[in-house]
Amino acid sequence: ALKITDVCINCDACPAECPNEAISAGDIIYEIDPARCTECVGHYDEPQCVAVCPVECIVKDPAHDESQAELQAKYERLQAA
Ligand code: SF4
Ligand code: SF4
Repeated sequence: ALKITDVCINCDACPAECPNEAISAGDIIYEIDPARCTECVGHYDEPQCVAVCPVECIVKDPAHDESQAELQAKYERLQAA
């Protein structure tokens, strides 16, 4: 999964781009639900939130380091839900 760092300026550009509805406004900055973020695997070739973020504050989450196969499996679980 990816994560949003505290550089986020709360511009609200990213939630609508996420195919997994993984992004929401948190108490201070926007947040990514790691259970729903597939790094866009299954939907797009590149993370859509990263593509629209004006301040480049979305990075790999070291606490949720996943392989392509794991991300694909998460995508399939979300599709089946
Ligand atoms: Fe959503 Fe894709 Fe960003 Fe993950 S990488 S939060 S799935 S837009
Ligand atoms: Fe924050 Fe970037 Fe999302 Fe804007 S696009 S809300 S700056 S993470």
